[in-house]
Amino acid sequence: MVLRWLAPYRYARRIEEVDPRALRADGIRGVILDLDNTIVAWNAPEPTPEVERWVAELTASGLRACIVSNNFTGRVRAVAQRLGVPVVAAAVKPTPWAFRKAMRVMGTSPSDTALVGDQLFTDVLGGNLLGVRTILVEPLSTREFPTTMLIRRIERLVRRRVLNRLRARQGPTSYPSPR
Ligand SMILES: [Mg+2]
Repeated sequence: MVLRWLAPYRYARRIEEVDPRALRADGIRGVILDLDNTIVAWNAPEPTPEVERWVAELTASGLRACIVSNNFTGRVRAVAQRLGVPVVAAAVKPTPWAFRKAMRVMGTSPSDTALVGDQLFTDVLGGNLLGVRTILVEPLSTREFPTTMLIRRIERLVRRRVLNRLRARQGPTSYPSPR
């Protein structure tokens, strides 16, 4: 079933709601981070203080992080540098090479890697294909590439269905569900 490949492992409204301690408790050692509309609003020059704090907390708790972005502008590197995390740019998500490269950089494998992103057809699909634990967040802004906006129309139809299924399974969604 196609929906299975598009269904995230978890959902959080924003990245700051993902608890690094919960990730660790779930056996995660490294987190792949999408850039646009996940850690910065589309085309924004820098992350918010909340996101900066969250990334600092993530790495302080012993987790590795790596940004993987389809974007290729100097801004991608500038944001990564500011956050002090490595980056794989021009990633062509959902193809797996950039995710694999990110895991090499972090020294992790799919079984101990999570991914946080705002798009089903790039982030969630790509992560699921590799067996990475995918966490879907709401996009930080409604502005994005024209091509992305086209994909969003299709995504909206699917998104509601996969999130309803996820809610039915795990109740109010954040990371991780109570065990
Ligand atoms: Mg994104």
